[in-house]
Amino acid sequence: MLSRTESGPDGEWQVRQVPGASSVKDYRCPGCDQLIPAGTPHVVTWPAGDYGSVEERRHWHLPCWNARHRRRPERRRW
Ligand SMILES: [Zn+2]
Repeated sequence: MLSRTESGPDGEWQVRQVPGASSVKDYRCPGCDQLIPAGTPHVVTWPAGDYGSVEERRHWHLPCWNARHRRRPERRRW
């Protein structure tokens, strides 16, 4: 599995790329609030200091993860 640490204004995050073949269920992306259907490549992230606490993990579309700092909650389009 490919995993890396990213640091941003919201702290340090572990980011793991999930290939489509390894994605076996649907997830809801917190960035756009749309489903990530099974079989779709995406990323899973969790706080870097918290490895192993599964409930902190979030599944994102990669573009949504990369754009998360640019989103304004009050300007959601969905
Ligand atoms: Zn998304």
